[in-house]
Amino acid sequence: MKEYERLFTEYLEARSQRLTQPRRLILEAVFSLHDHFDVEQLYHRLRIHNEEVSRATIYRTLPLLVESGLIQHSLRQADRDFYEHILGHPQHLHWICRKCGTVVETSLDMVLPLINKVASQQRFQIEDYQLNLRGLCWKCADNENENQ
Ligand SMILES: [Zn+2]
Ligand SMILES: [Zn+2]
Ligand SMILES: [Zn+2]
Repeated sequence: MKEYERLFTEYLEARSQRLTQPRRLILEAVFSLHDHFDVEQLYHRLRIHNEEVSRATIYRTLPLLVESGLIQHSLRQADRDFYEHILGHPQHLHWICRKCGTVVETSLDMVLPLINKVASQQRFQIEDYQLNLRGLCWKCADNENENQ
């Protein structure tokens, strides 16, 4: 059994729920995507493999996956919520271009020690975080400067 399958089964069983076939298919699809995805992308991923899972089931299953700690809600863009699996992926920064929508990820290696230092100064226990920076990517910034 795969690690994510074991963890999700445990999470569900603690709530007297089961890893049903639709949930299993969604779980597999989520861990086959190694990038940010929204409900539509997940739905199409399942359709490609001819899996009959409704959007409604996906909408109901995503919060369970978030709460189990296997995935996170990463960002909201153009009124769409994007998720990504975090088991096996270290947390990272998101650099989001407001113009072209490009999302670049960089490591938290340099930033995290600083955040932890400030947190300990405040005697604050961090349980969760999401670091999204919005602005213009270099391409869009170049275009804006040219058009001025
Ligand atoms: Zn991955
Ligand atoms: Zn851009
Ligand atoms: Zn990400």
